[in-house]
Order: sequence, then structure tokens, then C-alpha cells
Amino acid sequence: MVSARTPETRWVTRCIPFFLAGCAGLATYTVVKRICVDFLIATRHQHGAAAAFLALYFAFFLLTFATYLRLFIVIQTDPGVTPLGPKALEQKEKVKSCSRRQRDLEACGRYEARPDDNPDSPGLELFYTKNVFVCETDGRPRWCSSCCNWKLDRVHHCSEIERCVRKMDHYCPWVGGIVAETSFKFFVQFTFHTTLYCSIVIAACAFALQAQVRGSAGIDGVVIGVLAVACVFGIFTFTMTATSVRSILVNLTTVDHLKAKSAVHQLAVRVPLGTPPGPKYNVITYPLPKPPATAGAPGARGSAEPLSARDQLASRTYAIVRTEKGENPWDLGVWRNWTSVMGRRPWDWFLPIRASPRYESTESFYEMGPVYKKLRARFGLPALDDDAAGEKGGGRRDQGGRGREEEPGSNGEKNQ
Ligand SMILES: [Zn+2]
Repeated sequence: MVSARTPETRWVTRCIPFFLAGCAGLATYTVVKRICVDFLIATRHQHGAAAAFLALYFAFFLLTFATYLRLFIVIQTDPGVTPLGPKALEQKEKVKSCSRRQRDLEACGRYEARPDDNPDSPGLELFYTKNVFVCETDGRPRWCSSCCNWKLDRVHHCSEIERCVRKMDHYCPWVGGIVAETSFKFFVQFTFHTTLYCSIVIAACAFALQAQVRGSAGIDGVVIGVLAVACVFGIFTFTMTATSVRSILVNLTTVDHLKAKSAVHQLAVRVPLGTPPGPKYNVITYPLPKPPATAGAPGARGSAEPLSARDQLASRTYAIVRTEKGENPWDLGVWRNWTSVMGRRPWDWFLPIRASPRYESTESFYEMGPVYKKLRARFGLPALDDDAAGEKGGGRRDQGGRGREEEPGSNGEKNQ
């Protein structure tokens, strides 16, 4: 379980579920007892209207409750954080041994770690099993100085929980923590069902109030209060649903959206081994050379120690290229963007049963869209042998190239 850094946020996050339970309790009491039983059935004998409101109310109440529960559990148990690097773990142990006063003064536990210069840095090997990954100008992956680890594609460091998170969207105290890759689908379902739940509460309250205004019965102040709260929550959750659906359709997180128009992505794109630098791009070859006594820049093979036979087999060359401003290399088109988060089965879009499909491939960490192919053409990158085999219908591409999505919990069963 990963909790927020500041005590205030931790406190608010813990209290909110009780506040929401109170709101749901008040809404249930108002709709069921005051509106349906006491007013519609006992006073006006409108049994049909009461039954319709009760059925819709409990249907959306259950859906809202189920999605909230699933979302809350996922956020607490599998929030999508990436592991800390060895140095960060070491520092964490040090912080534990600090006194509370030292911690309050932030006299201990603060550190800034530069990228690990060790060519065998833990986690680095994962990147050169892929054909493309996000990199810095020197061709090495991005580094998180707080987590002391290499950042996989689409990972963002969340300052609220002090951890790197996969496809981080935002920190949401309303749902108990960080909304990210593992929880985003349930988050959208929760805001969607809450919007409908609020709509039913609003409809029941409005129906009762207009009857009370017309009739001789006095106006129920509790109903007015619940109507006002339902309107506030309804507008809020509707806005969240709309912005979340838009994010899914364009394959951007809320964090990405902040600078989507000006964002330039730097990618290491695999080219045949030993490809020299081109007029428009530099290259880097992994595994990085083990430096002699005086280290050279990463990628500057030559004066370095010779590679072992195993490293030679694993060697891969990458061209370092940049997208144009605003290009999103993970944009797969509206339908694929949608199914990559919500799954292919329409009932999965509404029910909090299956997690988002996982993308497993040696091509990339996340499925790349048409921009990736465009980049290869734009920079004139030489094709890989695997590509040629794949285009002739060979099996290598399937094995190593195109990824496949797996629905978690389907025991490896393929999607249709
Ligand atoms: Zn981090």
C-alpha cells in the first residue's frame, strides 16, 4: 500500500470514504423513506412511480457501490507504481531509522541521485529487449532521481506519493489514492455510474418537489438539500466522466494533456546492429560499453573493454529520434485507444469485473501508433531484418514484433 506524503492529504483521503458513505446514506433515506414510501406511496398512492424510482435508484446505487469498491481495492493493492531502485531502498531504510524530529525538519531522507553510470545498471537491460523506448538525448532511458530507477515509457513520478507510476493520471483523494494504468478503467466506470446515480436522485427529488409545490403538502426541506448536493456531485462526476473518456479516446493521461500540444517525444528506435549515425540522428548501442579507467560518454564504444560473447549476442543499436511537437506515438486511433483501456466486450465497459488488457510485446512497452512508422520513414532509418521477414509473412515478426493484448484473468486465452 502506498500512502500520500503529507499527513493532511493522508487524513483527508482516509476520511472521504466515510463522508461518501454518509452522503449515500442520506440520499437513500431521502429517496426511499421520505420520497417513495412516505410521500409517493402513503400520501399520493403513486405506486408505479415509487416502484420505478426505487428500482432505478437501487440499480445505480449497486453499480456505483461495486465500481467504487473495485476502484478503491485496486488503488490500495495494485496502484501501478514501479519498484524503487537499490539506492532509493537504501535511503528509505535510513529514513526509517531517523527520529521523528529529524524527519519533520526534513534533515534526513532527502537525496537526489544522478543517473546510474554503471553500464550494467539494474533495470537497464529491460529497455534493450524492446525495439523502441523513450530516451534522453544521450540514448539512455529517462531516470527518476527520487526513485533512483530508470523510467519505463509513460511512467510519471507522482510527488504526492513519492513514487513513479505507470500511466499516472492524477491523485484523487475521493477514491483513496493515485488513479493510473491499473485503475483508470474502474475510475471512468465509477464517475459514469455516479453521474447516473445522481441523475436518479435529482429526478426523484425534482418529481417530489414539483408535486409538493402543486399540492397542499408542504415542501420538504431535506429533499431540497439532497437535490442541491446531488446536483453538485452530478455536475462534478459528469465533467470527470467526459474528460476521462476524452483522455481514453486520444490515448493521453491527464498529466500528458497538460503539455500535449507542445510535447516532443524522444525515442530510441532499433536499427540493424552497427548502423552508423545518420545525417539527422545519432545512435547508441546496448549493452553500454564497460568503461576503461577513464569513462567515455555512453554509447561511445571504441576505447571500452571488449564485450563478452553473451553481450555481443544481446547487442542492439538504436537511432535517437524526436517526434514533431504534439505528436503522440501511442495514439492508435479512437477504437484501439478505447479498447486498450476498456477492453473489447461492451459489458466490460460498464461492469467492474476485468482489468484493462495488458500489452505484452518485445516491440515496445505500450503499443505504438502510426507515428512510429512515420518516424522511421521521416528519419530514413534502415529496416530491421525482422521487419523484412514479417512483411513476407514470416513468423519472426509475430514472435518478436506485434504485441498482443491479454485480458487479465483470462488465463492466457487470446482475445477474439
Ligand atoms: Zn519516481
